[in-house]
Amino acid sequence: MSSDRYPFSEIEAKWQGRWEERRQFRVSEDPGRPKFYCLEMFPYPSGRIHMGHVRVYAIGDLLARYKWMRGFNVLHPMGWDAFGLPAENAAIEHGVQPAIWTYENIANMKAQLRKMGISYDWDREVATCDPSYYKWQQLIFIKMLERGLAYRKRTMVNWCPSCQTVLANEQVEAGRCWRCDSEVTKREIDGWFFKITDYAEELLAWCDRLPGWPERVMTMQRNWIGKSEGAEFDLPVAGRPHLKIRIFTTRPDTAFGMTYAVLAPEHPLVDSLVADDGERARVSAFRTEVAKQSEVERTAEDRPKRGLRLGAKLVNPFNQAEIPLFIADYVLMTYGTGAIMAVPGEDERDWQFAEQHGLPIIETVKRPPGWPGGAYTGDGVKINSGFLDGLLIAEAKRKAIDWLVAKGLGTAKVNYRLRDWGISRQRYWGAPIPVVYCDKDGMVPEKEEHLPVVLPRDVQLSGKGGSPLAEVATFVNTTCPVCGGKARRETDTMDTFVDSSWYFLRYTSPRYEQGMFDSTAADYWMPVDQYIGGIEHAVLHLLYARFYTKVLRDLGLTKVDEPFKALLSQGMVIKDGAKMSKSKGNVVDPDDLIRTFGADTARLFSLFAAPPDKDLDWNDHGVEGASRFLNRVWRFVIANVDTLTRAPVTAAPASEAGRAFRRTIHETIKRVTDDIERDFHFNTAISAIMELVNAVYAFESASTAGAGAVPAAERAALLREAVETILLLLGPFSPHVTEELWAQLGHDTSLFKQSWPVVDTAALVRKEVTVILQVDGKVRSRLTVDIGAPEATIQQLALADAKVQPWLQGRAVERVVVVPNRLVNVVTRS
Ligand SMILES: [Zn+2]
Ligand SMILES: [Zn+2]
Repeated sequence: MSSDRYPFSEIEAKWQGRWEERRQFRVSEDPGRPKFYCLEMFPYPSGRIHMGHVRVYAIGDLLARYKWMRGFNVLHPMGWDAFGLPAENAAIEHGVQPAIWTYENIANMKAQLRKMGISYDWDREVATCDPSYYKWQQLIFIKMLERGLAYRKRTMVNWCPSCQTVLANEQVEAGRCWRCDSEVTKREIDGWFFKITDYAEELLAWCDRLPGWPERVMTMQRNWIGKSEGAEFDLPVAGRPHLKIRIFTTRPDTAFGMTYAVLAPEHPLVDSLVADDGERARVSAFRTEVAKQSEVERTAEDRPKRGLRLGAKLVNPFNQAEIPLFIADYVLMTYGTGAIMAVPGEDERDWQFAEQHGLPIIETVKRPPGWPGGAYTGDGVKINSGFLDGLLIAEAKRKAIDWLVAKGLGTAKVNYRLRDWGISRQRYWGAPIPVVYCDKDGMVPEKEEHLPVVLPRDVQLSGKGGSPLAEVATFVNTTCPVCGGKARRETDTMDTFVDSSWYFLRYTSPRYEQGMFDSTAADYWMPVDQYIGGIEHAVLHLLYARFYTKVLRDLGLTKVDEPFKALLSQGMVIKDGAKMSKSKGNVVDPDDLIRTFGADTARLFSLFAAPPDKDLDWNDHGVEGASRFLNRVWRFVIANVDTLTRAPVTAAPASEAGRAFRRTIHETIKRVTDDIERDFHFNTAISAIMELVNAVYAFESASTAGAGAVPAAERAALLREAVETILLLLGPFSPHVTEELWAQLGHDTSLFKQSWPVVDTAALVRKEVTVILQVDGKVRSRLTVDIGAPEATIQQLALADAKVQPWLQGRAVERVVVVPNRLVNVVTRS
């Protein structure tokens, strides 16, 4: 490639080595300084970093280095989300042990990250597959078990036939596995759950108290928690008053409009409602059909709702009307009570179902004028509703609930869409769940002093399904912690999202051996001040980590209510219109990029090409542009290094051109600082630095001779101030080349130990101002005058202006209006 490139390979290796030797980014608690905990989501060690990684780590490193320069004690750690399926698949396909495969990948990726020159405190590196890490999460599991926050239950679960594992609801996207995109099926299985529902209300309440999070992520979490307030009450079966169906509704005010009721096909009372073998067979066939669909499909708004009418009828307790009863796919057993009263007048899904099945529709809210028909969900006055008539909806809801309570028929009720977190995985490469099963004592937690329950390494993986650990006799066969007799270990492992729910706490004291983490360190560093990671984690990792932190708080381990004070969700890296992926063949390998252009260019481009929350569209010209810019900075400093190092320091230029140039320097400091602080506008910050570099070249060449020339000493001093400012501002974006040039200028302490430049407000003051000249309200010219020049002087200059003069030919000046520092308008008369 072109020979005028600066020697980036040498420089980058040199400074990576120096920073490491000096242990420059190693930190400890220092109560005397403000702290800043900067954290990028830790990666899964797939073996290679990709451009998405480059982007997110460049963002994190920019913020970390910037905060260092702002005087913060910055914690910036890195580690590995090391358990998970790919290691297991590699073992099945290639016969490599998952542990060996994983640690090799970690070594490769770490070497790649080092070449990027990120300011990590590598002393704090953790890998979640290390027994010294998962030991603590086993201990917390036992504590959660004692408090009823972890429990075992037989349930219908989402099952991925391809991954051969259970998936949490959050891991099913449109009926498909989030990992491999296979269609998800159902399976009944014993599994372990964390009671995240106990924290639903608190998780929801805090969604309003985290202003540093993107609103769209908070909205996704609120919707996922899905709080709804309403009532629960019983509908007796007609002719069998002892048999009652409990329903949940968010609209008890619409009870008089109930024209049928629906049970989830899986509802346990369905079997006792069927009248004969014929109906039983129809129900069974219907259930089989429904079982093929995912919950998402069943509740999708745009598809026909399927239902089966039962022979039994129910009684509406509000008006004693007998109504038909259905089982239908759009009602889920996992929401509310698995049974609903259907009010087609005020519910869109019920309306569609009623239309399809020819059921009556009663309106219970007066429609606004011009209403086109269909279900009405807005506010209005109650009609056709007995004792509720004439009320508005909110009051009618309250009154309906009061009536139910007074009659002993029901209660007010809050429901959440959030389900408990299923954490069992029938996989090998995960943290073992620390319980045993004894014939005599049943399920017993492992003793604390026996932790960690270590995952055995010598395991033959067949990929045939079921828990691989069940095949490992040395692991399974153990002794009961209570009676000392024979017992079997649990062979499920924990969902890897448990591992990632507390790694940020472990980073605060990664080698601590007396517990999960040292509270003193955690109290100093937590919460994470800036968390950076993809939007795809909006309801998975980000909700689990919030929950787990609250559990740890309630166990007395940490004082924080929330783990992440602020979140930045970066966009994807796309190329040729699609996300970079091997299958699309549009991958740019960071190693190639760093080899050809250097890490500084790769980082600068990824920060410049798009604001961090938007998708970054890859283009080679952009990379070349970033490279040219760094070369331009390099060339200027190297060419002028003698002048610059010998230049005096001055803050008060005497010449007008000098003052204007210094104003540009300080305006740039202000712009770059504001852009980083506010909304992370790194791309416009870089533009501002580029403009300053242009101004430096212009100032250096334009001011050497002639009228308006700047004295040589002043010129050198200003160029030095400008160049040093550029290096300080550009440092967090492209740290190696700036650190090298900083040293070339004769500084012997690191650029990143300097203070971030401060705006000299005096330099921002303009001494001159541009005034617009108008004739009869039309702009004809512009004039540069001293700020606060007398009106008479301005008037004189305006009338004498060469571009104004022609417009005054043959006309008399009636008056001249002067708006100080802004405009002059000459009013004429012919
Ligand atoms: Zn799958
Ligand atoms: Zn026992």
